[in-house]
Amino acid sequence: MSTAALDPWMAARMGLAAPLTRAAIDAWGLARLNQTIAHARAASPFYRARRDFPDSPLARIEELARLPFTTAADLLADDPPLLALSQSAVARVVTLETSGTSGPPKRLHFTPDDLESTVDFFDHGMALFTRPGDRAAIAFPGRHPGGVAAGLAIALRRLGAVPVAAPSPLDPVALAGWLRETRPDVVAGPPVPLLAAARVAANDGGAPIRARAVLLSSDHVADSLARGLEATWGAEVFRHWGMTETGYGGAVDCAFHCGCHLREDELLVEIVDPDTDAPAPAGAVGEVVVSTLRRRGAPLLRYRTGDLARLIEAPCPCGSALRRLVGFAGRVGAGALLPNGDTLTLLRLDEALFALEAVSDFAAVLDRGAPATLTLSIAAPAPVRVAATLAAVRARLAEDPIVGAALRAGALRVEAAFADAVGLSSPAKRRLTIREATPCAQRC
Ligand SMILES: [Zn+2]
Repeated sequence: MSTAALDPWMAARMGLAAPLTRAAIDAWGLARLNQTIAHARAASPFYRARRDFPDSPLARIEELARLPFTTAADLLADDPPLLALSQSAVARVVTLETSGTSGPPKRLHFTPDDLESTVDFFDHGMALFTRPGDRAAIAFPGRHPGGVAAGLAIALRRLGAVPVAAPSPLDPVALAGWLRETRPDVVAGPPVPLLAAARVAANDGGAPIRARAVLLSSDHVADSLARGLEATWGAEVFRHWGMTETGYGGAVDCAFHCGCHLREDELLVEIVDPDTDAPAPAGAVGEVVVSTLRRRGAPLLRYRTGDLARLIEAPCPCGSALRRLVGFAGRVGAGALLPNGDTLTLLRLDEALFALEAVSDFAAVLDRGAPATLTLSIAAPAPVRVAATLAAVRARLAEDPIVGAALRAGALRVEAAFADAVGLSSPAKRRLTIREATPCAQRC
């Protein structure tokens, strides 16, 4: 299938003529946005109660920037409720994990049409690199009907592939053994557990695992991690961006690997400066803000995803007119400010450490202070070469412009040790844990 194959399908979903043009997509998006605003204002108690909404439809898409944001805290509070339909019209209620807070979890509601739209996107997105007859390994955790793994399996069957779900996707040893037996043509899963499984299998003396293509989703993807999978499995790596709030699907890489093509028949994306809340300059990194264009159950207007990326408007070399998200830079506010003024992020540590074949996963804790202390817990496949790997970790960190400069300036020190595991990932997104300096118990 041609890599611009998303466009004819999306044109059909939008009721537009192929080939798609930016002007046609934007005009369609504005009309759908106004419909979504009208639906949300009429049917969602949350949006009905909000102020600062215009009484008349938006005349230009830029006017969207005048509307208030919807935040994760709004979803968490759900007061007034976001649900814009009766409970009986809802096919699935998704409970979202909250990071370290007590209290009620975030909930999102999807109708059968909302879920079908996601499956349709998965179908056409996976078709960019999946062929009829392919065995497709699904390594996303969770088996709920209407969830990611279930939707992906339906989509893969539609395009004639054979989906197979990993029984223990977060256990690298079990996943490696299962992949070796399954012999998939394509693999879809979260990045670090797949890398860990690849590195376990590459070191355990068994038959090598090969795959033609890998789709990585549900967390940021360091370039070094993608290169590691490409080298170990001989696979072409495709990235996908999305989250439950985007209806799981969001944007998918094409064979030119110049960014993830947005699902513009469902999502209108803005990039805003997270510090000023103003629209970011064209092409600049900022927070990805989404408005849904079709969703009936729980429409979202200007939802702050917390993800940092850039938006490219120019046509892709593949011929697609769809906007692309590129330069994923982790989460807003997830970095740690070092005493020398630089910011340390988990993505930066990923780039440095996953370049080492001896590292299968790691956890990082930064204790603020002068100097700050970075404690790394390194997971490695057997056989573990402790001294050599720790030396390589330190060398890679010293080569990184930010980490190396902080080390040389005495603003950071690193403590690294081995974890008693080959994988540390949980279903939650990985993050850099930041601990404030403990105040001195005595006045000093
Ligand atoms: Zn493309």
